[in-house]
Amino acid sequence: MGRSKKDVHPDERYGNSVRITETCWVWIANTNKHGYGRFYYNGKYTLAHRLMWEWAYGPIPDGMGVCHNCIGGDNPACVNPKHLWLGTQKENCQDASRKGTLSAARSRGEEWKKRFSMRSLPKGDKHWTHLHPERIPRGVTHYKKLFPKKGVRGARVNTAKLTPELVRQMRQEYIPWKVSTPSLARKYGISKAQVYKIVTHQFWKHVE
Ligand SMILES: [Zn+2]
Repeated sequence: MGRSKKDVHPDERYGNSVRITETCWVWIANTNKHGYGRFYYNGKYTLAHRLMWEWAYGPIPDGMGVCHNCIGGDNPACVNPKHLWLGTQKENCQDASRKGTLSAARSRGEEWKKRFSMRSLPKGDKHWTHLHPERIPRGVTHYKKLFPKKGVRGARVNTAKLTPELVRQMRQEYIPWKVSTPSLARKYGISKAQVYKIVTHQFWKHVE
């Protein structure tokens, strides 16, 4: 029996619904008909990018909408706080009509979801965090600031069986497309997702 949805902390559920890329943070879970991420929070469905704005910057003032300004074209599924700006509802609508129809926005969101599925993300040394460490979000928009609980769980619970030595060893053994995450997962007795997060330095970041 796995954990049911309601046992999982909202921060963790949110974090698991996002793939952080070099530019956009792409919502890969449910989206509405406009391509915006939907997230069940405090007993109701809310829009993922609006929630992210509130977590990053504070409450959204009455009558204001959260608009996108993504590099290379707006992506309604993006929740990167640096790509979100506050506009009046009127500006928001103008924004949508200027950039194309809402259904076009929807298919653009789908496109991004496909492009940034877990499978297609580069791994190990080719992962963007290795190529461009300077682009890792810092300060208020840093992932750990936004999901502090998730970080703690990762280190203390999920990978509790591991030691820094084992983590280093695993990273050395990992060769993309050759020594796979499933084989390492079997060897170390942890999940594939945990191996992936360790070799991409999302977990055990403090170990070089
Ligand atoms: Zn974006």
